[in-house]
Amino acid sequence: MEELRDEISKCTRCTELAESRTQTVFGDGTADAEVVFVGEAPGEQEDRQGIPFVGTAGKLMDSAMERAGIPRSLVFIANTLKCRPPDNRDPLPEEIDNCKRFLAAQIALIKPKIICPLGRFGLEQLVKKDMKISQVHGRAIKRKDGTIFFPMYHPAAALHQGSLRETILTDFKKLAKILKREGVL
Ligand code: URA
Repeated sequence: MEELRDEISKCTRCTELAESRTQTVFGDGTADAEVVFVGEAPGEQEDRQGIPFVGTAGKLMDSAMERAGIPRSLVFIANTLKCRPPDNRDPLPEEIDNCKRFLAAQIALIKPKIICPLGRFGLEQLVKKDMKISQVHGRAIKRKDGTIFFPMYHPAAALHQGSLRETILTDFKKLAKILKREGVL
C-alpha cells in the first residue's frame, strides 16, 4: 500500500491536474478493510488535507454511517480520481482512464467483500457503463468471484436535493444489514 501511495503521489499523467493539485488524495482506511467506498474525486478540502471525504459531503456520509452503525474503521474510502479537478469540474474521460489502474490496484490489495460506488463515476468504472444510480442504488449486485457491489447515491447529491438524505440513510442501513449477514459487522 505504501509503495502504491508513493507512486500515486508522484503521478503526472494528467498534466493539468498534476499542476493544479495541492497534493494527491490516496484514500483513507486500512489494507484489511472489508468495504471499499469509491467516490468521484477530491474536492477543495480533500485537496488541502490529503484525505477523502472530509468536506461537506464527507460530513453527511460520516453522519449516515454513524446512524447506520458502520464504523469508519471498517471501510476504506477511495475515489476514481486521486487529484482534484479544477473548480470541482467533472472528471474527464482521459483522466479516468489515466487513474483507473490506481483504483484497481487498491482494490486488488485490499480485496474487500463489498465495494460501494458512490455516484455515477464509480458505478460506470466498476460495474457497468450507462447504468443509472437512481435505478440501481441500494441493491446488491453479486459478481461470480463473490464480490458484492452495492451502489449508492453520492452524498453530495443530497446537498443539492434534500430528499435524498433519507434515501442515503436507508441505503446505509441496508448496507449495515448486508455487512451483518456477511459476518463483517
Ligand atoms: N467528493 C468525492 O467524490 N470525493 C471526495 O473525496 C470528496 C468529495
